[in-house]
Amino acid sequence: MKNQIKQLVDQLNHYAKEYYTNDSPSISDAEYDKLYRQLVDLEQKYPELVLPDSPTHRVGGVLLESFEKYEHRYPLFSLQDAFSREELFSFDERIKEKFPDATYVAELKIDGLSISLTYTDGVLEVGATRGDGQIGENITENLKRIKDIPLTINSKESITVRGEAYLPRASFDQINQERQENGLQEFANPRNAAAGTLRQLDTSVVAKRKLATFLYQEAGPSTKGSQEEILSHLVQLGFSVNKTFIKSSSMTTIWEFISEIADKRNTLPYDIDGVVIKVNELDIQEALGYTIKAPRWAIAYKFPAEEKEATIISVDWTVGRTGVVTPTANLTPVQLAGTTVSRATLHNVDYIAEKDIRIGDTVIVYKAGDIIPAVLRVVPEKRQQEEKLPIPSICPSCSSPLIHFDEEVALRCINPLCQSQLMARLEHFASRDAMNIKGLGPSIVEKLFKANLVSDVLDIYNLSVEQLMTLEGIKEKSAKKLYDAIKASKTNAADKLLFGLGIRHVGSKASRLLLEKFNSIENLAKAKTDEISSIDGLGDTIAVSVKTFFETTGSQTLLAELTKYQINTNYSSSNDSEQVLSGKIVVLTGKLQTMTRNEAKDKLLQLGANVTSSVSKKTDIVLAGEDAGSKLTKAQSLGITIKDESWLQSL
Ligand code: NAD
Repeated sequence: MKNQIKQLVDQLNHYAKEYYTNDSPSISDAEYDKLYRQLVDLEQKYPELVLPDSPTHRVGGVLLESFEKYEHRYPLFSLQDAFSREELFSFDERIKEKFPDATYVAELKIDGLSISLTYTDGVLEVGATRGDGQIGENITENLKRIKDIPLTINSKESITVRGEAYLPRASFDQINQERQENGLQEFANPRNAAAGTLRQLDTSVVAKRKLATFLYQEAGPSTKGSQEEILSHLVQLGFSVNKTFIKSSSMTTIWEFISEIADKRNTLPYDIDGVVIKVNELDIQEALGYTIKAPRWAIAYKFPAEEKEATIISVDWTVGRTGVVTPTANLTPVQLAGTTVSRATLHNVDYIAEKDIRIGDTVIVYKAGDIIPAVLRVVPEKRQQEEKLPIPSICPSCSSPLIHFDEEVALRCINPLCQSQLMARLEHFASRDAMNIKGLGPSIVEKLFKANLVSDVLDIYNLSVEQLMTLEGIKEKSAKKLYDAIKASKTNAADKLLFGLGIRHVGSKASRLLLEKFNSIENLAKAKTDEISSIDGLGDTIAVSVKTFFETTGSQTLLAELTKYQINTNYSSSNDSEQVLSGKIVVLTGKLQTMTRNEAKDKLLQLGANVTSSVSKKTDIVLAGEDAGSKLTKAQSLGITIKDESWLQSL
């Protein structure tokens, strides 16, 4: 049992980190909630086995280093949740037993992220995330870019208010379309996009993304008598407050409201994941108090994950950069969670076999934590197809035999020269966290391969402007721009190159750790497995993977190519010896001329600086570009050193 609990805690903590810290969940909320429930049940049965790091005892996730921490004067809580009518009625019984006159306010549960706004004498002073409930991230500058957050309220009072920042569906669709066109990974859902946006260091990105808010709470003691009065007070102060809510003392009426909302959920211009029911009277709220994680006076009813039936028309098999061949079903179109769905992932061959999925089958489709919906199961009563789904034995791209390793669920093409793999590898090589070659997205990559201008990743360094101009749709100006971006990438710090090489299990953080120890790609290629696995934060899997990569790729050939194209393979020269800003807290503000804010941030990080988003007494340097606003003024008033772009270049 101990092991099972430990396993669940580790699993849930891993998913919570993906969700709260990285804004990139890999499972659906419903799947997460199911595992969470299993843990709650086990912990109730075996209270002596509750682990100190159990997610049932903590709010939220790990804080990001890039923002200043902000200690909340009054903590922010999570909510106890309910998944059925019965659970709501037993909540009602518990409340009414002690407070028979209690009434409820039921509000929409907005699927965004909690924010806390503190106003002093009517002026917005600090805006922060929930964080772990006690300490959040100070994201004031970003929150000021959200149009419906008032910078001053209609009263000179000092007040802290709480609510939800969210991304309207229309803005979400627009952002993802742009990201797709630029070859960037799309956001999984509006909540993650909103959370990712608010934790951007570049405030101009926030301004562009059109976030909005709904406020619903006053923190700390209130002069009001009920939740209903608080909501109207928030409106008077100038906040956006969601108008869809009801007040009632009857859980039956509230259940009817929930059913109505569930029906029109998909027609709302923003995502909701349930309805929050709160005791209306503040004196009763106070008497009920809090558990370690949530108020006893509120409960969140969560809608069940949306599922629909669809028919599988055909299955596409696509090859990724590591050779994994992934099946995707083409479906008869269905409306699911507000969008038309016509494709769903079938994950891998083992999944297909386990669920016995066949072409022509009627299947249940649901939205997982990812953009692409997934097939949950087959509806056996509706089966008409006797034939099993044919599993390809050869690669759909290069026709080499596919391998299904015993220890893997995936089917793999192991031909290192497979064109689909090479294309996917080049896309990865050029991506932002790797070599950051702007303009080299999937469609240009495909054109380059089709025109036989490249046949491997490093071939891009041979391309001329004239060759690029032969590609369809590429004029001289964009060809020149792409050529310059390719050339500029040669001087990147070597950790970006290492990540770009796409070694299995080696992400950008591992790349940095590896090069901090070995200083250059050449040294790393010669490193022994145990030298690699001894690095704090890495392990045997990465060590074996790195070793295998350099052995099988032929390190001599790779290194010779890197030298031939004069691509920087050193880390120490641009990092250790030049960490002139080591330990310094630097804030970026205003528009830069020769680089983007992200590029400036990367440079500052390489130079050892700690880049934060808001100016305080602790800030050492403010790097100010054009049109720098309040941060510059604040820095000047605090007597902080101000530098311009040329200073950064000179470093
Ligand atoms: P929660 O989202 O279940 O509920 C609490 C939050 O609801 C509050 O903090 C507040 O931000 C929000 N809220 C929205 N509208 C509100 C309103 N009108 N009144 C009050 N609060 C309102 O709890 P949580 O602790 O933020 O997150 C836990 C949930 O997050 C899980 O149940 C799961 O669904 C999801 N999660 C998913 C993953 C994953 O990997 N998919 C991982 C971790 C958590």
